[in-house]
Amino acid sequence: MIAPLIKAEGLERVYKLRRGPFGKAVPVRAVDGVSLAVMPGETLGIVGESGSGKSTLGRMLLGIDPAQSGAVTFEGSRMPALGTAEWRALRARMQLVYQDPLAALDRRLTIAAQIREPLDIHGLLPRDARSARVQDLMIGVGLRRDQAGSYPHELSGGQRQRAVIARALATSPKLLVCDEPVSALDVSIQAQVVNMLRDLQEKNHIAMIFISHDLKVVRNIADRVAVMYLGRIVEEASSDVIFQAPKHPYTKALVSSVPVPGKPLTGRMILQGEPPNPANRPSGCAFHPRCPLAGDICRTASPALREIGEGRMAACHMVEGADAPMAA
Ligand code: SF4
Repeated sequence: MIAPLIKAEGLERVYKLRRGPFGKAVPVRAVDGVSLAVMPGETLGIVGESGSGKSTLGRMLLGIDPAQSGAVTFEGSRMPALGTAEWRALRARMQLVYQDPLAALDRRLTIAAQIREPLDIHGLLPRDARSARVQDLMIGVGLRRDQAGSYPHELSGGQRQRAVIARALATSPKLLVCDEPVSALDVSIQAQVVNMLRDLQEKNHIAMIFISHDLKVVRNIADRVAVMYLGRIVEEASSDVIFQAPKHPYTKALVSSVPVPGKPLTGRMILQGEPPNPANRPSGCAFHPRCPLAGDICRTASPALREIGEGRMAACHMVEGADAPMAA
């Protein structure tokens, strides 16, 4: 049986939020008891509105933002502590692609120098083979050889993100965590970068955690999808199941907001209101103030994430009756 490449169990991260210089610090549960697993070569999409804890979870999976409780294992071994030699060595096998390529790149270094940097840091390949590897990586992500000497500001947004991806791939990672990797790009470029990521992933058999608020993009790339709401996973299933037959009312609302070419806008569920303040989490099911199916139990008891079918899980008291029409 194939073991997961990365596994998280019961991850929790609480920040203290202080309102004003003299305000009382309030605990904010950014990630609240998240467990998941990603198989080698698999893509897990993590979706949810802004503030759902997606990015914090991504950093926790890489050990950049250490968990206060719970554990992450990578290739069967516990994630080493941040900053240790073991953690730095492991980072070569797990890379992060950020949303803003300009912020991720050093404006004073050429693109080639930045793609080469991880090879130098981790001492990978003989020195005289590194330039050829940089050229291969640039071509692999669709950059031209003559752009090797360019600086970040001389490239377009899409080209900069390609350079960031080339740098992430330099160490032949087993896992790529992509945090909103295309949301800063023009829509026309987004599809190109997503297709490129999918091709590179398949070719190199890399597992990917693809974090995005954009379900259209996630649908194109993810094998499986975890939906987050206020720090918790509320539904998880294969991408086909999530997009064709979502069960959790929050997932239904998210999915129904994705435009489908040729389909009328009628019958869609409109998500009411804004996500609640994480520092003032609603009682019971945190989604209840926005949920059209909420009953009494939803206001008092928090639903556990449980298996509701083969390979699918949801956290909802009413999930068995959630096929009732919910259109606004
Ligand atoms: Fe809605 Fe209740 Fe399910 Fe929460 S538990 S999603 S409030 S029906």
